[in-house]
Amino acid sequence: MTPITTLSYPERLTTFSDHWDDCLTTARQLAAIGHVSDRPPLESLEPGSRCISCSQFVRKELSTRAFGDNGTQDYMQHFRGFRFHTAHCERLQVRIPLEPQALLAGLYASQLGSLVSKFEEMASGKPAREASQRLPQTSSLFSLPTELRLEIYAQILPKLDEVTEVLPLNRDSSRVITRAGYEKTGPRDTTKHNILRTCRAINDEASDLLYSHSTFQFASSKTMYLFLRSIGKRGRQLVHLVDVHCGSREDAMAFALLASCEQLRVLTIRLPRPKILLPRSPLWCVDGMSGLLELSGLEAVKFGHCESAFGCMDDSKPDAEVIRRELTRPRGTSGSIRTINGCLDV
Ligand SMILES: [Zn+2]
Repeated sequence: MTPITTLSYPERLTTFSDHWDDCLTTARQLAAIGHVSDRPPLESLEPGSRCISCSQFVRKELSTRAFGDNGTQDYMQHFRGFRFHTAHCERLQVRIPLEPQALLAGLYASQLGSLVSKFEEMASGKPAREASQRLPQTSSLFSLPTELRLEIYAQILPKLDEVTEVLPLNRDSSRVITRAGYEKTGPRDTTKHNILRTCRAINDEASDLLYSHSTFQFASSKTMYLFLRSIGKRGRQLVHLVDVHCGSREDAMAFALLASCEQLRVLTIRLPRPKILLPRSPLWCVDGMSGLLELSGLEAVKFGHCESAFGCMDDSKPDAEVIRRELTRPRGTSGSIRTINGCLDV
């Protein structure tokens, strides 16, 4: 039996499967930082999770506040009053992007999450109305065939580029912005977005059109994480195409969150090494790769260029085919790469 201190990411994730089904996004992120589901010995205490290395216990309520979809403002507040690890835990090398300690001097942290440019309208939308509360559609627009309505939206909505590059707003900031928004000067014309505010049904149809045809490109997994948090659960449901430069300490958290993009179809990976793992890889590398390999159900996996002294992953490397095979397996099925004492057996 594997000792608890060496449980791999998929093994840690499995421990959450009974009590955390209502907050799977949080559970994935907890597993990524080295936690397993745990219930304190006294039944009167709340359930939570515990670090497999330092045994730090965190109540479920606090984790869901930090990692769940509970508003995009003031993330500093969400991490107040507790720690996921003790001061010298080896798991601290897996970085939690929004944790105040991870942000240099905490600059802009209190303003976090306001996604600018074309996504601004989406982020400021009213909370979704339950299906049962929705009113029947009486607008004559809905008497048109769906294809025709989609054609109308396509004519009205601004075109996102085929590739939408997302950047951090400032070097120390947790806010993100599209490159087009970053480089644009003067006021933005948001009038075209007003169709998204017309009603929920139009918003659903039109926002799918807005989001799902563009590849979102990120220069780091941290930026991808910040973006995925900013657009919330609904936004993540609409992301189909992603291009990310990985190989950093935020990989584990970023891929844990990317797993909640259930419509993700095509992933372009820019990995600055020629193998899945190099010998004696540190824990953050192992967990980052485990998070990537936990993704499944993709239609296509591509390998993009990146600068690296070690050479980068591309289709000429044998490991590229292994990654592609793992990520295109049927959604939700277990991967075929075994783990030995918490390390991938590759
Ligand atoms: Zn720990």
